[in-house]
Parts: sequence; structure tokens; C-alpha cells
Amino acid sequence: MNTTYAYAAKDAQSPLAPVQFERRALRDHDVQMEVLFCGVCHSDLHQVRDEWRNSIFPVVPGHEIVGKVTAVGPQVTRYKVGDRVGVGCMVDSCRTCPSCTEGLEQYCETGFVATYNGVDRESGEITLGGYSSTLVVDESFVLRVPEGLDAAGVAPLLCAGITTYSPLRQWGAGPGKKVGIAGLGGLGHMGVKLARAMGAHVVLFTTSPSKIDDAKRLGAHEVVISRNPDEMAAHANSFDFILNTVAAQHDLNPFLNLLRRDGTMTLVGAPEHDHPSPQVFNLIFKRRRLAGSLIGGIAETQEMLDFCGKHGITSDIELIQIQEINEAYERMLKSDVKYRFVIDLASLRQ
Ligand code: NAP
Ligand code: ZN
Ligand code: ZN
Repeated sequence: MNTTYAYAAKDAQSPLAPVQFERRALRDHDVQMEVLFCGVCHSDLHQVRDEWRNSIFPVVPGHEIVGKVTAVGPQVTRYKVGDRVGVGCMVDSCRTCPSCTEGLEQYCETGFVATYNGVDRESGEITLGGYSSTLVVDESFVLRVPEGLDAAGVAPLLCAGITTYSPLRQWGAGPGKKVGIAGLGGLGHMGVKLARAMGAHVVLFTTSPSKIDDAKRLGAHEVVISRNPDEMAAHANSFDFILNTVAAQHDLNPFLNLLRRDGTMTLVGAPEHDHPSPQVFNLIFKRRRLAGSLIGGIAETQEMLDFCGKHGITSDIELIQIQEINEAYERMLKSDVKYRFVIDLASLRQ
């Protein structure tokens, strides 16, 4: 057993505050790590405030984790003490259903075990995430971090990176394709960087005019203010694919109108309140599709990390101390993040 220091929300109304608890004793295939950095995902905020109405308190959030291996169970073959590793949104799944055997553990037919607010398949305990000093995870759900990438900038790849990489690959982002990314936050800025590296023509949609220059620096060829109907109309019927990362309820029709025949808009944003249903005619007249996508599988997450290693891609981050987390949430709610908060867990050990 090892004592872990962490920040937790004790209920949906309380700010995050310090707690301590014991991580489980190592099982045969377990990897124990010291958490170095943990990204702050908008999903953390949704769950701390119980906006998806399924939180089990206390919640220790955090699923964009980079750590250093400090011990391994007797059967571990893939990692050794000292390795730099990553953990994303999942720590287990059934491993035998059709989705799991296809490497799509996020769609596990019995439900994957989330890194926090999940239920451990063996002990029944509620999982506690990466806003903490140590973590214990089965090696099958641990990722290898490419050499040469900044560890703090890698952390957000474990959720924001894979959640945008997977649908961009699934819907064929690449040369000759016009790809839109809606929302320039944690997910959106990774979507811009990844779609650009894949060779697509990238258009960023934002509600924040102050982000135009940044969007171009991050790799967008064009930037559209999505609340400006004239700017939107100039792109009517032209997109092959739009990835919608917006974290709040909004009208989907203005975006669907921008898809060409057979184009797809995929939702990854998961707001507290559903979007109103889009107009059916907007879909049927151009055989357009509206889709969704959930993070990505373990093999694809490793593929994404290796892709980022090859292209030198990391997240643009603001490094914070854990004591600043509640303030960071308030800024995230105002779309004021450039472009991902990452917690330096050294601040927990002081
Ligand atoms: P984030 O950093 O807060 O970024 C969200 C962006 O959405 C904001 O920066 C803003 O961009 C835009 N936005 C926010 N409120 C808006 C509003 N009222 N109207 C229009 N645009 C608004 O959040 P994130 O961490 O990227 O997460 C985005 C969403 O994806 C969250 O709902 C999160 O839970 C979800 N998520 C889903 C998955 C999945 O597997 N599907 C995985 C991770 C996260 P602009 O300022 O550019 O407009
Ligand atoms: Zn996330
Ligand atoms: Zn399964």
C-alpha cells in the first residue's frame, strides 16, 4: 500500500480540496507510478459538478496523466522502473467482447473502467484519478511516451489528443479534405494541430475573436467567427468533415449547412444540456451525417502518441500548481484557457 496525496471534490457544490488515501497493493500486471503532470479536461469539471448526473463522490479527477514508473508487479513485461509513461481516460475493460478484441476498448460492451469515477472490476472500488501523487494501473492500459517530447505538454494528448485524433482518422482527414474544428479549447487546439499535420485544409470555428491569431499560429489555414452569419455563409456546402468540440449547448444547424453532400459532423463535446435537434431537411437534402465519437482505443492512443513524437506535437499549456485548480475551472468556464491547464504534481509534494 502507498499513501497518495490528492485533490478531491466531496460533493457537487464544493471546491476541490486536499485528501489522502491508499492506492491498492500491486497486482501481478500492475504498474505503479509517480504522477508528474495531469491535464485539466472540461470533462473533469462536468463530473466534479455532477453535470452528467453520474458522479460518485468524493471525485478525484484527472485522466491526462504522465508519470514515472516507481514499481511493477511480478508479471509486468512492458514497463520497468524509471520509464516515462502515460495514462488516459481508461484503466480497464472486459477485454473479451467484440469491441475490446477489435482494440476499441472505449466502446466495451460492458462499459470500460474510467480512470476516475469508474468501478474497479476486481475490488468494486471507485477509481480515483490523476490529480494525485501516485497511480496504480494495469500495464495493458499504460502508454509509452515518445522520447524528446516535453512531459507536461504530452499530458493533454492522453485525452484531448486521442479524442480528436481518432475521429480525424476515422473520417479521413488528410490531403485534399476541408476539415473544420469547432471550439478552440483543449480538444479544439489539438484538433487543429493534428488535422494540419495530417495534411488537411483546416478551418477553425470560434466564438472568441481574441483567439484568431493563436488559431493561425496553431495551424489553422482559416478562422471563422461562428456567431457571424456572413462569415459562416461564405463556407456553405464546402466541408468534408467538421469536428465539434464545443462544451456547451448550441444550435447545430449553422454548422450542418456548411457540410458538402455526404459530409459528416462529429460531436465530441459533451455538454450538460443536449443540443436542440437539428432540422431534418438539413441532413436529408445533402445526405449529410451527424455522428459522435468517444476518446480512442489503447492501440490508437499509442499510435497517436507516436504520431505526435514524429511530428513534434504537444499541447500548448499553462502549467499550474494544484492549489490553483478551482480558479482554473472558473477560467475554463469562461473559455479562457490557452489552451490546456496542466497541473504540476510537484506542487502536491512540497
Ligand atoms: P474547453 O477547453 O473548455 O474548450 C471548449 C471550447 O468550447 C471553448 O474553449 C470555446 O471555444 C467553446 N465554447 C465553450 N462554451 C461555449 C458556448 N457557450 N458557445 C460556444 N462555444 C463555446 O473544453 P475541452 O476540454 O476541450 O472539452 C470540450 C468538450 O468535450 C467538453 O464537453 C468535454 O467534456 C468533452 N469531451 C469529450 C470527449 C469524448 O470522448 N467525446 C473527451 C474529452 C472531452 P471558443 O472560445 O473557441 O468558442
Ligand atoms: Zn478528458
Ligand atoms: Zn469489452
